[in-house]
Amino acid sequence: MYKVGSCLSGRYAGLTGPFCCSPGWAKFHLGSGAVCQKSAFKYRPADLPQMPQCNCKPEEYKGMSKERMMEIRRQNCNPVTSKITFYKKPVFINQGYMQWLWDVDGKRYLDLFAGVATVSVGHCHPKVTAAAEKQIRRLWHTTNIYVHPTLHEYCEKLASTLPDPLKVIYLTNSGSEANDLAMLLARLYTGNYDIITLRGSYHGGSQQTMGLTSNSAYKYPVATSSGCTSTMCPDVFRGPWGGSHCRDSPVQTIRECSCAQGHCMANEQYIGQLKETFATSVPSRIAGFIAEPIQGMGGAVQYPKNYFKDAYKLVRERGGICIADEVQTAFGRAGSHFWGFQGYDVIPDMVTMAKGIGNGFPIAAVVTTPEIAASFGKAFHFNTFAGSPLACAIASSVLDTVKEEGLQQNSLNVGTYMMTELAKLRDKYEIIGDVRGKGLQIGVEMVKDKVSKDPLAPEAMSEIFEDVKDMGVLIGKGGVYGQTFRIQPPLCITKEDVDFFLPIFEKAIQNYMDRK
Ligand code: PMP
Repeated sequence: MYKVGSCLSGRYAGLTGPFCCSPGWAKFHLGSGAVCQKSAFKYRPADLPQMPQCNCKPEEYKGMSKERMMEIRRQNCNPVTSKITFYKKPVFINQGYMQWLWDVDGKRYLDLFAGVATVSVGHCHPKVTAAAEKQIRRLWHTTNIYVHPTLHEYCEKLASTLPDPLKVIYLTNSGSEANDLAMLLARLYTGNYDIITLRGSYHGGSQQTMGLTSNSAYKYPVATSSGCTSTMCPDVFRGPWGGSHCRDSPVQTIRECSCAQGHCMANEQYIGQLKETFATSVPSRIAGFIAEPIQGMGGAVQYPKNYFKDAYKLVRERGGICIADEVQTAFGRAGSHFWGFQGYDVIPDMVTMAKGIGNGFPIAAVVTTPEIAASFGKAFHFNTFAGSPLACAIASSVLDTVKEEGLQQNSLNVGTYMMTELAKLRDKYEIIGDVRGKGLQIGVEMVKDKVSKDPLAPEAMSEIFEDVKDMGVLIGKGGVYGQTFRIQPPLCITKEDVDFFLPIFEKAIQNYMDRK
């Protein structure tokens, strides 16, 4: 019925054959035509919006059975992973192209979670794939003890996206490694030890960064890095203070306040909490403060607009350096700016990044000032894989693609549209407590009711989550109580995709309410 091929060529594949579908088959538009595929949905296709076109036809899956994969998962994969599949009925992914994923049965999903906010420019993006293919034929690996062009081309390109004096780059392989290194650098440079972090944050799973991570779901009963102290997260929806124009988002909270324009009582209160932490929990001199511009795993939590500015000032007065964890918010995702911190009009002393940097390929980085970097010369820092030619070629192509395809602007346009529409659902349904975010870093916080703001129970969250997936869309979950849906898609999604998702999300909410 259609040409089968890899998605690189399938993008341009022509179509032949009929497109009137028999019962039980769903019509999918493809290129200039349409195809019939066995409907994998438990819903009648008529109940669903039409899935937007995708000019890619996945290869037929001929690999191991689902049962065998689950058996191996139980027996040979790490015990925590073997218990978790995210969904009750797991998704077995086989292939991806841009914002689309296909499971082993050929069912297509709109991917609004991007492998946990990681696939920035699109699954198997043709340009990035071509750059990887070109480099893999030339040279995969050599360490940075040698001078190779891809590393230098990339470092120059990445540095050019950051303001002065953030110009010295340490490449690593993961976000945890980057934050680990940032902690070390902060301590070496300042000669102090204590680092302050926001509650609800996730900064990594290594033993050092677990000290920063302030969400008990990710903490083990072992000694993690000492000297990490959490302060109250300035969450203007769930926290004790918040109002009607606190945050930098197209959608404000449902709370009201009487603050005059340019004044934010909530900010003063949260900064007061930070001062309390300084007064009670850390020595008078500290090594640093780390926070994400928008808290990702915490559920796209946003702070009052001036929080970073005021917090950075207080931290620096105590000898500390300010670290922006941009693992989720960078590379245009936040829409208004390339880097999340730019939305707060501050310049951190150090920026850490991972995930979107390589569109899914393992690479991460710490960027800092020449002055801070100089303190690292006391010993030899070595990392075998960091800055490999392959990783650098891929990351370099990601930067080009974000620019060439206007993905930051797309993130702003499509994200703003999505949040504005989601806010209408929030106004309609008592269990949608908050819609927030910037660009394509979006959170939808679910509550039992808007008055108590008690988090919607995990079972209820799972039901809605599973339903959305069954109807063809993958989203994420987060929040300290697992109460927030996270929407962090590849930056290439379109308004048409949003129009496909919204009725599905609403239907899942209605289905849940009907079952209650
Ligand atoms: N920081 C943030 C904000 C993250 O979201 C994550 C991962 N979810 C990390 C750090 C750690 O990154 P990695 O999983 O690559 O170690």
